[in-house]
Amino acid sequence: MTQVALVTGASRGIGLAIAEALAKNGFSVAVNGLADDAELAYACQHLSSFGVPVLPVPFDVTKSNDYPRIFSGIESRLGPLTTLVNNAGVGVLHRGDLLDVTPESWDRCFAVNARAMFFLSQAFAKHLLLKTRLQNVFYSLVNITSSNAVAVATARSEYCASKAAAAMVSKTFAVRLGAENIAVYDVQPGLIATEMTLPVIEQYRARAEQGLTLFPRVGEPAEIGRIVAALARGDLPYTTGQVISADAGMLVPRF
Ligand code: NAP
Repeated sequence: MTQVALVTGASRGIGLAIAEALAKNGFSVAVNGLADDAELAYACQHLSSFGVPVLPVPFDVTKSNDYPRIFSGIESRLGPLTTLVNNAGVGVLHRGDLLDVTPESWDRCFAVNARAMFFLSQAFAKHLLLKTRLQNVFYSLVNITSSNAVAVATARSEYCASKAAAAMVSKTFAVRLGAENIAVYDVQPGLIATEMTLPVIEQYRARAEQGLTLFPRVGEPAEIGRIVAALARGDLPYTTGQVISADAGMLVPRF
């Protein structure tokens, strides 16, 4: 049976790279972005070139009432869902001192990065548990959190807090879904060159070259894509609940 993945926030950046890696590995892909716009259309056109069925599914991941309808829509076009990649995320409204963080920015980070991850995972889990799953098919939930689930970024405290919450969401789902043989992973990217990091990427690049990361460079979205595809294929059998630190060794303790 063909694996079918829903990737949230896949109109660009890491999400698009994940969708591409999954498509290259034969997955049918439902491609989510916030808006039904040219970026999402371009992403789907690009992904279709890999010869797999691709479906645009524009929706706001924070609108939890829509999830069951969205799953049904995907399955009527692509077949039974096997994989959810919770990738959609937002940064802070303003980088700066924790003393200046606004409730608006805090709530936005938590709504997308943590709350939506929890409730979309919950809906996906309920959806899978209601069905007869096939023995030889690998089912998984892959969450994209961040090195900031662990490491403080002094100018982005609300983002860090939301990603720490998201990392715990991953652990709780791994525990709940273990007996169902559904694998759950938490991929924690470090410094990856995307639109989200565009304002600071040169700073990150310089710090990586000076030793912040063990490999002295920033990462590419395609590298995260390859990691997620390997996880979603089931290439790490007999694992669940793992954190994959996709950060070139940035958080290895040193002195
Ligand atoms: P990005 O380029 O800003 O892309 C974010 C994606 O999320 C876009 O496709 C965006 O859709 C979508 N999105 C945002 N809010 C949404 C919502 N409410 N509903 C549906 N989709 C929504 O960011 P990125 O760098 O690729 O980041 C992807 C994930 O990796 C995020 O969770 C981020 O926190 C995490 N991460 C990134 C880095 C890094 O260095 N870049 C490091 C660690 C973790 P639209 O285009 O329609 O707005």
